[in-house]
Amino acid sequence: MTKRACVGCTVPLTNENISREHILPEWLATVVHQPELTLKHYRHSEDTREDELLRSHDLGSYAIKNVCRDCNNGWMSDLEGRAKPILLGLMNMKTSLLQLSPEERSVISEWAIKTAFMIASAQNNLPELPWHLFRGMARMPQEIPAQCIVVAAQVPFLPDGFSINKLHFVVLIPFVDAERVVRTSGVQLPLWPLELEILIAHRHFPTITSPNDLINFLTNLVEAGIVSDSPSRARV
Ligand SMILES: [Zn+2]
Repeated sequence: MTKRACVGCTVPLTNENISREHILPEWLATVVHQPELTLKHYRHSEDTREDELLRSHDLGSYAIKNVCRDCNNGWMSDLEGRAKPILLGLMNMKTSLLQLSPEERSVISEWAIKTAFMIASAQNNLPELPWHLFRGMARMPQEIPAQCIVVAAQVPFLPDGFSINKLHFVVLIPFVDAERVVRTSGVQLPLWPLELEILIAHRHFPTITSPNDLINFLTNLVEAGIVSDSPSRARV
């Protein structure tokens, strides 16, 4: 087995310090509390606009071993504790994304970025993730990477029983260091960085027949382009 390092603090991982990080926290699996609900992990291709199903998991067993115990029980656990009450309020539609203070936006954005890195790291056909951005969150004081873009939507019109779907995040993890412009529909609000401005396009909602269709539709609404001087613009 190759020597691996903690993706948070770069300490070499050993049998003594390795830990099992639940990609979706156990508290969330308990709240969602639906044994039949699985987390489906898709890769979306910008070329074909198709979604490829990579993995399907029970919420409670979606875990990865790439962080050390100090990170898992330290800053990551602390972040879960700070994000949980805010996320629960949003998921249960008790609070609105529009009501969040800058501090609350920062906390749930950091949580979404941390979770997106964990989900992406479970995907072995990606290039190396920009872990230097992730490591900023492990430092004290914490640095939430401004290069990662977070938008979120509250979707109140789903039937009961899909409460997790009432809060939907899209996180952009940049593989290329560049300035970006983001466009989406009015469903999503920009959360991070705090001064992020996005372009809004009007889209009609199609007839949605399943929660997965809705999630795919919401995710595909978000488009990010690299700002470039050349006439051909790369899409990421
Ligand atoms: Zn660590």
